[in-house]
Amino acid sequence: MKRGHNKTKIIATLGPVSANPEMIRKLIHAGVDVFRLNFSHGTHELHKQTIALIKEANRELNTHVSILADLQGPKIRLGEVLPLTVLKDGDIFRFTTHPQIGNKEVAYITYPNFPKDVKVGETVLIDDGKIELKVLETNNHDTVVTKVVFGGPISSKKGVNLPDTQVSIPSLTEKDHADLMFALGEGANWIALSFVRKAEDIIHLKNIIRHHGYHSRVIAKIEKPEALKNIDEIIDATDAIMVARGDLGVEMPVELVPFTQKDLCRKCLAKATPVIIATQMMESMIEHPHPTRAEVTDVANAVLDGADAVMLSAETAAGKFPEKVIKTMVRIVEQAEKESVVYDRRHIPDKRSKTYLSDAICFNACNIAAEVHAAAIMGMTKTGYTAFMVSSCRPKSRIYIFTNNPEVVNILNLLWGVEAFFYDGMRGTNNTFREVQQHLVEQGKLKQGDTVINLGTMPVKEMARTNTLKISQIL
Ligand code: PEP
Repeated sequence: MKRGHNKTKIIATLGPVSANPEMIRKLIHAGVDVFRLNFSHGTHELHKQTIALIKEANRELNTHVSILADLQGPKIRLGEVLPLTVLKDGDIFRFTTHPQIGNKEVAYITYPNFPKDVKVGETVLIDDGKIELKVLETNNHDTVVTKVVFGGPISSKKGVNLPDTQVSIPSLTEKDHADLMFALGEGANWIALSFVRKAEDIIHLKNIIRHHGYHSRVIAKIEKPEALKNIDEIIDATDAIMVARGDLGVEMPVELVPFTQKDLCRKCLAKATPVIIATQMMESMIEHPHPTRAEVTDVANAVLDGADAVMLSAETAAGKFPEKVIKTMVRIVEQAEKESVVYDRRHIPDKRSKTYLSDAICFNACNIAAEVHAAAIMGMTKTGYTAFMVSSCRPKSRIYIFTNNPEVVNILNLLWGVEAFFYDGMRGTNNTFREVQQHLVEQGKLKQGDTVINLGTMPVKEMARTNTLKISQIL
C-alpha cells in the first residue's frame, strides 16, 4: 500500500463525515496513523461501530492504525438557553446551579460547586472565550452574579471556561468513568484525559486502567494554566501529552500559546514523552479545499518544534474535505522533515535513572546510526520502552520495532518515526537479529549493502531491557 514517508504522525478525529468503511480506508491510504474518537460527542453504540470499522480496516489493509479515546473530562457547560439569546456589554447576568431554560438574565451551569469555588473579580468565559464576564458576587450556595464585559449570542450547551478559578470537579467525572470502561473494553490503545490539572489526575486514571487489567496508554491534555504549573510532574506521570490549543488558548493569554507549545515539545523530547499538537491546524479546510498560508506554516512549525504527531479535529470529523486534508498535511509534514533541525535531538541519559544502562544504549545507537549513516535502527521490545527512547532521539535512520505484544504494535503507531511489527520468534539474539532483518528485506524496507543497527536483549529469552547493540551490513 502506498503511504507517505512522514515520520511525524497524523491523528484524525472520526465523526459524521468520516466514520464509515470507505472514508476510513481512504484516510488510512492517505496517511493517518491514529484515529481519535471524541467522547464529548456520540453514543457508545456509535463509537462501538466506529471502533469495529477501524479494526476491520486494519485487518484488511494490514495496518496498525492506533485508536485514541478522548475523554471529555471536567468540561463545564451552560444548560439549555432560549433561541436568539444575546448578552450585551454591561448587562448583569446570573449563573444558577438549578437546571432551567436560560435567557439573557440567567442560565444553568453544569458545575454544582461553582458558587462555592469562584471568587469576586474572577473571569468567566463562554463559547471559546467569545463572551467574557466578570464575577460581581456569589451567595456561596447556588447563584453567581456577573457583569458582561464582552457580550454576544449564547446558545444551549456552550462550553464555559474559568481560567482564574480553582475548579473542584473531580478530574474523571462519572461520564468519563463510563466512557473509559467502554473504551478499554473495546480495545482503545490510547486514552486522553481532558483538563488535566496535576499528576495525580493521570496517576488515578492509570491505576483504574491497570486495576481492570488493561494496558492502554495515557495522554494528558494540557489546556489549563494549572497544568502548566505542574507540568514536570505531569510529564513524569503520563505516557504522552497533547497541547490542546483550543481550550489552552481560552484559559491563558492566546499570545502565550506558541511559546507554551515550544516549551512543552522541548520538555517532552528531553523525557522521551511523545507530544501531540492539536486544534485548528487546518481549520479553514473544514469549508475550503486549500489551507491558509498561516495553517501550512503552523503545521510545518509543529514539525520543527519536535512534535510526535499533529492532530485534526473537525477537519476530518465534520469537514467537507477529510481525505484532502490528510493528503495536504502529509505534503506539508514531508517538506518540513527535510529540515535538519528536526533530527538528532539527543539528550544525555540520566545517570540516576533506573533505566540508565538501556537509555545509554538507545542514545548511543542513535549516535552510531548518525556516524555510519545507518538505514535503520531495529529494536526488540515487550513494553515499547525502547521505541519511546529511540524515537525521542529523532534519528534520521528509520526506526523498526518488533514486539511479541500485538497491542504494543498499535500503541507505537503514535510515536515519531516508529514502524512496529509483531514478532514472537525469540530464538537466540543473533538469530532474532537476522530474522527481523530478513523480514524487512522481504518487505522492501532494507536492501543489500544497507548498514543497520540492531538493539536487543542478551539472553533473548529473559526479555529484559535492551542491553545489546549490533552493527552490521545487509548481505
Ligand atoms: C483542545 O481544546 O484543543 C482539544 C483538543 O480538546 P477538545 O477538542 O476535546 O475540546
